[in-house]
Amino acid sequence: MSAAPPMDRRLNARYRQLIELAPDAILVHDGEVVELANAAAARLAGAGSADELRGRRIAEFLAPPYLKSVESEIITSGERSAVAPPVRDTFRRLDGSEVPVEVSSAAIMDGARLSAHLMIRDITDRVAVERTAAELQVRLRHTQKMEAIGALAGGVAHEVNNMMTVILGFTEFMLQDPALPHERIADMRQVSVAAGRAANITRQLLAFSRRSFYRPQVMELDTAIRGLEPMIGRLLGEHQTLALDLTPAPAVWLDREQFTQIAVNFTLNARDAMEPGGTLTIAVRQTDLPEPAPGYAGASIPAGRYTRVSFSDDGSGMSAETEAKLFEPFYTTKAVGQGTGLGLAAVYGILEQNGAYVALDTETGRGTTFALFLPVASEQAVADRAARTPRPVGAPVGASVLVVEDEDAVRAMVTRSLELAGFRVLQAANGRDAIQVIADRGAPDLVLTDMMMPQMDGIQLADHLAERWPAMPVLFTSGYAAEELERRGIPDVRRKMLQKPFTPDTLVRFVTAVLARRISGRSDFADTP
Ligand code: ADP
Ligand code: MG
Repeated sequence: MSAAPPMDRRLNARYRQLIELAPDAILVHDGEVVELANAAAARLAGAGSADELRGRRIAEFLAPPYLKSVESEIITSGERSAVAPPVRDTFRRLDGSEVPVEVSSAAIMDGARLSAHLMIRDITDRVAVERTAAELQVRLRHTQKMEAIGALAGGVAHEVNNMMTVILGFTEFMLQDPALPHERIADMRQVSVAAGRAANITRQLLAFSRRSFYRPQVMELDTAIRGLEPMIGRLLGEHQTLALDLTPAPAVWLDREQFTQIAVNFTLNARDAMEPGGTLTIAVRQTDLPEPAPGYAGASIPAGRYTRVSFSDDGSGMSAETEAKLFEPFYTTKAVGQGTGLGLAAVYGILEQNGAYVALDTETGRGTTFALFLPVASEQAVADRAARTPRPVGAPVGASVLVVEDEDAVRAMVTRSLELAGFRVLQAANGRDAIQVIADRGAPDLVLTDMMMPQMDGIQLADHLAERWPAMPVLFTSGYAAEELERRGIPDVRRKMLQKPFTPDTLVRFVTAVLARRISGRSDFADTP
């Protein structure tokens, strides 16, 4: 062996040129040391020239795995040499860093030694693309699953909301009836409490399905949290403490009620996770992300300015399994009757709806931090709020309202609520009916119409009325979907819509506020009460 001339001198000059030209690294070794390397191999290894590689041990660069396949190829074929298909491996560069590579080899069994010709391709880019694709797959599957459950949950909530509106309404009427026998009052209160809880479940479901309808506004979170402090404090358990760490941060664009819902859900979870003596800390900060940051479940939080609000408890923390599932509806680790598994599902939907992000940091036995990254309100939005005039008040007694609703029981409840509040009420069962009623009885001061109805739905009715009476206010009630209205091009819909289930009280305040504003000469719909 030692008498043989060096490998590259044995090669025909033309082949040597070809090897030098190859874009992939080529290495030849005798089972122990590198005998030949091309320019691409030098680049891959981070060497100044191919000469630097010659004589080095091949094991410095490649660990044995790539040999396994070629070895087994030789053993199974019984031949002295074999060509193995490409295998993935890791190439160690001279500076110790590692590069993913694909190694194709032709090997010769020379006694007990396996010498080989290797063609090595740097696949860093391909691996990165594959990893991104795999991550996207996981995200997509997660999103699709949440979409599907969301559609189901939203549908259920929609149906149930109609019934809850009726139950809440009539329970309220009975409780207000002075003729209600004393011994029945407690019974009715039970109905009322249960109905309230059911309505809360549908509310969470709607939030999760992103079909809950919301009115984002400019909000300062430090102020908002200070306002919620007494309520949140009461939700915590005995000997548990609420600590606030608030710094002024840019105003965000968020629905106030939804923010309360988020804060309540995090607080209740912290209460359940903490022992007596535990502390829940709510912090608000301005956070600038110079580059994307990792969020929950592989999501990426885009670079930008956020107001970050975090809820940190020193409670039980959670397992990896819980961490993976906690935003799914009905996922709960709590005993029956203690958890519905809807709290964080609602939070998830609200965050999605508001274009916000969440990151989670939890460790078993150490506690949990949920950090929300909320988009900062535009300067324009902040300026608009400052310019807004205070809203007028005063209830227009005796005004006429046309109630359009296909569900008899809901229509009866709405009618009764408005009549009790002093309105004159006309009724219709769908859009076409409504037009007939107006033709017979004249135009009302306000039309309150359900969205989804046979014959002619609420939108079509509103379109029709807008032609003849452009100034007549039309308000909508619905078990869903502000989005649907927006898709159909109804402007400013969030202010014109009352979401089911509603109580008689909310209904009356909603209608009163709109009419009061009209009487005071404002033709637009400002914020509802
Ligand atoms: P529920 O509270 O009704 O169980 P949630 O959706 O609010 O439903 O929470 C889902 C699950 O996530 C909980 O059952 C609990 O296992 C886990 N979890 C949520 N917040 C925390 C927390 N702060 N600490 C520990 N575990 C939590
Ligand atoms: Mg909960």
